[in-house]
Amino acid sequence: MSAPTTDTPLSPEQKTWQNHQILHEFYGPLPLEPRRAPMRELISTLLSHRTTHADEELAYDRMLEEFGDWEGVLAAPVAALAHAIRTTRWPDTQAPRIQEILRRIKAEQGAFTLDFLADWPVEQGLAWLTDMPGIGLKTASLVLLFNFQKPVLPVDTHVHRVAQRVGMIGPKTSVEKAHQVLLAQLPKDAVILLNFHKHNYWHGQHICFFTKPDCARCPLKSFCNYYLEHYGPPTPAALAATPTHWQREWGVLLH
Ligand code: SF4
Repeated sequence: MSAPTTDTPLSPEQKTWQNHQILHEFYGPLPLEPRRAPMRELISTLLSHRTTHADEELAYDRMLEEFGDWEGVLAAPVAALAHAIRTTRWPDTQAPRIQEILRRIKAEQGAFTLDFLADWPVEQGLAWLTDMPGIGLKTASLVLLFNFQKPVLPVDTHVHRVAQRVGMIGPKTSVEKAHQVLLAQLPKDAVILLNFHKHNYWHGQHICFFTKPDCARCPLKSFCNYYLEHYGPPTPAALAATPTHWQREWGVLLH
């Protein structure tokens, strides 16, 4: 007799594609437009680690107000820079990292620019960015996808949680490994990858919560391992009651 399984019949690849199609409809399509300049994307994403969006923005604005420009940030006393970004989680760690990143970019490029990444192959760009202090695969992928339309997939804690619960990746797949696994399951199309990233990010933020996922509102329940394990196969009534689109009254989706 075979061991009982809680997996739903779809393969991980099929779930990933279903997830993309359903959430694309649920949240709506997004255009691939840079949300901020490359240097800002890189430094802001560094500041955002374990920090709310509002506190990240406050830190970024204070830093530029205090020191004027990247040259000023680089020349600032490190304690003063840490004070300017004090709303972030680890200002004393991030301040010297920011200065080291700026120092390297200026030394290599002669200016504070990342525009050269547009012409570099993906792997070279990822390797260069992740060699910077504090820059992991997620931040490097965000910059390359959002600013340079490279076919990479950023996986943050929200995307990772949804992917694990649904069964798009294995229960022990790390965030780092999930970058490769999920990317291999999706077309190498920057627009699709951006939509997949943002939709799953929103889903983890607003529905598939860390402590108590709101499965009643979730359009992924028909093939989600977590749902099956906790509630059994979804009933026709549960499926019929599931919203098909994000409702504005539930809140604002921040890009
Ligand atoms: S059904 Fe529940 S656990 Fe599964 S993805 Fe949706 S909210 Fe998350």
